Order: sequence, then C-alpha cells, then structure tokens
Amino acid sequence: MREAQLEQRIGQQNAMLDASADCIKMLAPDGTLVHMNRTGCQSVGLPKTSILGVPWLPLLPEDVQTEGIEALAIARKGSPARFNGRSVTPDQQCQYWENSLTPMITPDGQLASIVCVSREVTAAYETLQSLKVSEERLSMAARVGGLGIWDYNIVDDRMHCDAAWYHIMGRDPAHPISSIGEFRSFIHPEDVERATEVVQTAAELVAQKADYGIVFRIVRPNGDIRWVRSAACLQTREGVAVRVVGFVIDITDAWRGELALRDANRALAAEKSSLARQTLEDPLTGIANRRHWDSELTRIFLHASETGKAMCVGMIDVDHFKSYNDRNGHLAGDVALQKVAKALHSVARQSDFVARYGGEEFAFVLMNAGDPSRMLDRFMAAIAHLAIPQAESPTGCMTISCGCVVAAPCEKLTPAQLLEASDKALYTAKTAGRNRYIVHTAAMLY
Ligand code: GH3
Ligand code: MG
Ligand code: MG
Repeated sequence: MREAQLEQRIGQQNAMLDASADCIKMLAPDGTLVHMNRTGCQSVGLPKTSILGVPWLPLLPEDVQTEGIEALAIARKGSPARFNGRSVTPDQQCQYWENSLTPMITPDGQLASIVCVSREVTAAYETLQSLKVSEERLSMAARVGGLGIWDYNIVDDRMHCDAAWYHIMGRDPAHPISSIGEFRSFIHPEDVERATEVVQTAAELVAQKADYGIVFRIVRPNGDIRWVRSAACLQTREGVAVRVVGFVIDITDAWRGELALRDANRALAAEKSSLARQTLEDPLTGIANRRHWDSELTRIFLHASETGKAMCVGMIDVDHFKSYNDRNGHLAGDVALQKVAKALHSVARQSDFVARYGGEEFAFVLMNAGDPSRMLDRFMAAIAHLAIPQAESPTGCMTISCGCVVAAPCEKLTPAQLLEASDKALYTAKTAGRNRYIVHTAAMLY
C-alpha cells in the first residue's frame, strides 16, 4: 500500500519534470546521470531507460566542455555553478543554453547529488546580441561623429550621459550627474532657462509631433565657453513625453565661423546700402540727387506710358538766392537750401518724386497729375511757411519760382523734352516776376 503510494508520487514527480521545457537531470557526485527528464533525453537523443550511469560531461557540445568541467568541479565542492552553452540542432539551428548546477547536500554535509537544469535561452540571447550590435553601432557612430549621448527620464528626473557627453562638457565622467538640476550648472547663465525647459518643450513637441533640437552655450570648468547643438527624440506614454534620448555635439568652431560670416555679411550689406545712399542721395540736403532723378524720371515716365495717365514734370528755382548768399554767407545759404529741400520733400505725396537738380534748383515729377496746381500751391506754401527773411523779396521772405509741363503719354514727348519744356516755363515764371508757378501743357510745345 505504502509502496503503491510512493510509486504514485514518483510517477507524479516524473510527470512534473517531464512537463518542463527545461532539460532537468540529476547527477551522481561522480558526474554520471541518475535521472533525466523527457526534454533532456530528447536533447541528447537517448532513451530514458538507458541513461543511468552515463557520464554527463561527454554529452555536452565540445565547445562548452571546459566550462562544463569547471562548473561540475565547483558543484562537487558544494557550491552552485552556472555556465552558458551552445548546441546545434540536426537542422543546423543554433541553440543557446543557460546551465545551472545545484549541489544537493545531505544533513551531515555530504554531497548527495547535483541537479543540473539547462534552459534554452536562444530567443533572449539573440535579442541581447542584436541589442549589443546596435548599441555598438550607435556608439561607433557617436564616436566618429563626436557625439555625446544623453538619456533623460522625465518622470523621475534621472539623467544618464555617456563618457563622450562628459568630455564635451569638459567634465570627468567619474563624477556623473543624475538630474537636470545638476546639469544647469554646466550651462551658460544666459542660456540656462532655454536649455532646461525640457518638460514644457517636450509637451509642445509631442503636440507638434516633432523632435527636440536646440543650440546653446555651456561653460567648462576652465571657463571655456562652447556652443553645442543638442537633438533628441521623445518617447511618449499615452501621449505624454516620459523620456528623451539624444546627443550633443560641439559646434563652436562652425558656429563661430557662421557668426563671423553673418557679421561680415551685415557689414557688407551696411556698406552697400551706404554706398547706394551716397550714389543716390544729395549730400547737402539728404534728398535724391541728380543721378537718382535721371533714373527715377525714366522709371516714372515708363510707368505713365503703361498706365496711360498724365504726368507733370517741373523745375523749381530759389528766387534771388545769390543775394541771400552774399548777404548771409555761404553756410547760411546751405542751411536755407536744406530747409527748402526738406519742405518740398515733406509735402510731396508718396507717388511724387522731388530731387535736388543742382545749385538752388530742384526738379520734381508728379504721377497721375492732370492738374498739378494743388501740388504746386502746396510747394509754394511750404516755402512761405519757412519764412526765411529775404530783403529782395516783395513778401520779405524767401520764395521760389516754378515751371512745369503736363503731358499725357500719347503726346509722345521724351523725358528730356519734358524737362526742357519745364525749364522754359520756369524762365517764364522768373521773367513774370518770380514767386509763382507756370504750367505748360504739351500742346503748347508744338
Ligand atoms: P534768380 O532769382 O534769377 O534765380 O536769382 P539767383 O540769384 O537765385 O540766381 P543765380 O543763378 O544767379 O544764383 C544762384 C546762386 O546759388 C549762385 C550760387 O552761389 C548759389 N548756390 C548754388 N549752389 C549752392 C550751394 O550748394 N550752397 C550755397 N550756399 N549756395 C549755392
Ligand atoms: Mg538758378
Ligand atoms: Mg535762383
């Protein structure tokens, strides 16, 4: 009865061992097999009935025999041992095994047997291998590219950086930092807020489905300021960024070059625009000069031809200016010319153009000006408003005379002819007593 119970229990235990996917065997202290479960028997190709007394070590693949011998020796001395094994299936598939040997010790301290469990870990091993390969690849690429890698866990504010990262920061990897707070002291004070706004930035980036990228300055312990570019990708969980993994690269040299180039370009642009001003601007009055006038007259003339609208070209001459100069001196004459120029320019409309033609003469062109009298009244009034004392003038103040010609494009006059006609009108205004304007039409020129 008791025997039957025992046998039943052994049967149950065997069934349990046979159900395992691991190879489970029991070895005698001399290293021979006492028992082996079904998976173990299948893996060595032996029937269960013929394993008793078979030495275990020779069953191992040749290339792990040495590790097997060592592990068995350790287990025999009463300590657990482990080693990794590899076997090749009949269809040439590699299998990886993790073997653990556990000595079974009797209450009086004798080695009774050794339980050996071999577990197939092929899938885990291959995953680990491919992870190692990609990690190696990444670290090689990072080394070649001069990249320092950082890994920031937003949830628990843990930062991990590789040795290259510390190298870029000018710090010793033997004294690692572990939080963003500690990293703040590495960053230039002016950039620190911008560079450490990770959580906020991360939330924005997640919303935009973008990666992280920023350029900022760091300060090395020796005081060197370096520019770095940091780029990273975000890992999210349920739409929230939980981790950021990225790299930094020292871009100081390229950045300095870029800044120098930018400065040089700015200086060049400033020089160009000042040169352009010099060539187009009258140095005394600051309004357009003769050269500018010539090109602008042509441009407005062409525009009028396109639109078919009438234009007005005119000349203005300051009255009795020679006397003004003689009485007040050339410098006072200059100031008066500046005032006249400013006054004419300020009443002109956006579409009009006023230039200093030469000496105390000004030229203007009015666009869309079938009747220029309103504009001409404004010119006259602006000068009167200056109230520059002038003894020869009947009004007692400086005045101007103006002659202009209004022409529609269909009248086929050239800009030079228009200017010549307005000069004639100006002469008429002078001889008629000054302080007035005379408007000629193109028809009067034929
Ligand atoms: P009118 O009423 O007939 O125009 O008489 P006017 O004296 O103005 O004419 P005129 O052409 O005889 O004299 C022009 C004067 O303008 C002569 C010249 O000394 C002066 N002038 C020309 N350019 C400048 C300048 O840039 N600054 C100063 N202060 N005077 C100038
Ligand atoms: Mg003159
Ligand atoms: Mg004059």
